[in-house]
Amino acid sequence: MTCLTRRQFNYLAGATCIVAFRPQVARGQGKARVVVIGGGVGGATAAKYLAKGSERLDVTLVEPNARYTTCFFSNLYLAGLRSLESLTHGYETVAQRYGVNVVHDSVTAIDPVGKTVALEGGAKLPYDRVVLAPGIAFKFGNIEGYDETATQIMPHAWTAGPQTRLLRQQLESMEDGGLFVLVAPPDPFRCPPGPYERASLIAYYFKQYKPRAKILILDAKDSFFAQDVFEDGWNRHYPGMIEWLPGQFTGGIKAVDVKDRLIKTAGDTFKADVANIIPAQEAGRIAHQTHLVDQSGWCPIDPMTFESKLQPGIHVIGDAAKAGNMAKSAFASNSQAKVCAFAILAALTGSKRFAPHLFNACFTLLASDDAVASATSYRAEPETIKVSDFFLSKVGDNAETRREAVREADGWYAAFTHDIFG
Ligand SMILES: Cc1cc2nc3c(=O)[nH]c(=O)nc-3n(C[C@H](O)[C@H](O)[C@H](O)COP(=O)(O)OP(=O)(O)OC[C@H]3O[C@@H](n4cnc5c(N)ncnc54)[C@H](O)[C@@H]3O)c2cc1C
Repeated sequence: MTCLTRRQFNYLAGATCIVAFRPQVARGQGKARVVVIGGGVGGATAAKYLAKGSERLDVTLVEPNARYTTCFFSNLYLAGLRSLESLTHGYETVAQRYGVNVVHDSVTAIDPVGKTVALEGGAKLPYDRVVLAPGIAFKFGNIEGYDETATQIMPHAWTAGPQTRLLRQQLESMEDGGLFVLVAPPDPFRCPPGPYERASLIAYYFKQYKPRAKILILDAKDSFFAQDVFEDGWNRHYPGMIEWLPGQFTGGIKAVDVKDRLIKTAGDTFKADVANIIPAQEAGRIAHQTHLVDQSGWCPIDPMTFESKLQPGIHVIGDAAKAGNMAKSAFASNSQAKVCAFAILAALTGSKRFAPHLFNACFTLLASDDAVASATSYRAEPETIKVSDFFLSKVGDNAETRREAVREADGWYAAFTHDIFG
């Protein structure tokens, strides 16, 4: 593994928009049908690039919601730095400019033998290939007392929208001097820096409006991504406000009592004024129902094409995929979607095959003027995906470098969401 320089990082972070092409297509055939399930980052990107790649494909995107709110930057909403509306996107352009058939419905079953996708509304969609990008599901059974109903009192806010709004309302209503408890999940989970960015940005909000408030992170793990960079940021911006307790200290998070807002670990019980419980995760429900997951709870795939190793003709991308060392992130999902789209185009239209290029890049805010940048490029091998190059901001970066990363983050959000939905 080698390390990327800052200049190489900037190139990689801008690499979301590099691919725009129309391959040669086989002549004299009818349209091949691709059904994309899930209109989040992975699914919307795949649908757009498939439709853009060939007029000989009939691409249908199935997504229950009319609009999609990004998890990325939702911590900025919690801090009061962004509106939720500014993080919400529609499918009009994907439908009108690229000709994707957008169907607002939920998939209830995939029949890999009959090659059909069943919708809650009753329709059956025939397919030649499926791209499945359902994101994550929560393992509610792992913390006693924490189930779907409990999320209305102790939100996870790990899918963006009503849950994020609820958490923000609770933070606004909390008394100055109150305790905010964040339960951080075990690996692997969506967005490794996410819980710690959340703690940072809620501290940013408290520092302005509730300076006597405290934040306690109860972690299932004993260490976390870029820990030294986060802890340095917390000491500089919010001394004494954030406390992190690792799994080895608490013995693990065992139960919650929603009525009294209690969080029980193996050793102690903590009473929160506001509790944010981020549970353990696995691939989205439909992946389990279609027998696409292995014992890990995630979907094993061929790293060259993202085709399922368990069901031929079905490709799995995004957080649901078991993609070696790739982080579960929006950038990674978008990168996987393009690799998958080009592999399907090659299979169905005879277009040129490309070697997979897989990347991740991320900006994580510690405060409104302090962002940490990270970037990774990956090597797809026959059985797995490995890190080949890695860049991460360092403790001791000068303040202007960190301010510049905040400006880059804003530019990245606009370009990245345009690449998916624009
Ligand atoms: C707080 C937070 C901050 C984050 N920050 C960043 C960041 O800065 N950078 C970054 O790269 N990543 C970030 N992420 C991670 C990123 O949001 C996810 O990795 C990304 O959204 C995964 O994309 P996906 O397509 O796999 O799933 P999703 O984006 O969750 O999309 C899944 C879609 O599938 C649909 N669906 C599910 N089941 C069905 C069904 N049966 N039928 C039809 N549709 C279905 C859902 O409605 C949903 O729209 C963050 C995450 C969080 C929680």
